[in-house]
Amino acid sequence: MLFLRSCPRCQGDMHINEDLYGRYKECLQCGYMRDIEDPEKVLKLRKILTGGSKVA
Ligand SMILES: [Zn+2]
Repeated sequence: MLFLRSCPRCQGDMHINEDLYGRYKECLQCGYMRDIEDPEKVLKLRKILTGGSKVA
């Protein structure tokens, strides 16, 4: 998937890349990288932070 001229730094073209830590967009022109926020991951984190299951 290619995002034309979506780089905030050089207005270059960005594509989606993936590694162990998740997915991110990378600029083909300057190498700028930006994480893609994963809504599921955020929900999971929030669950952990707020205590999720209640233990007495
Ligand atoms: Zn760029």
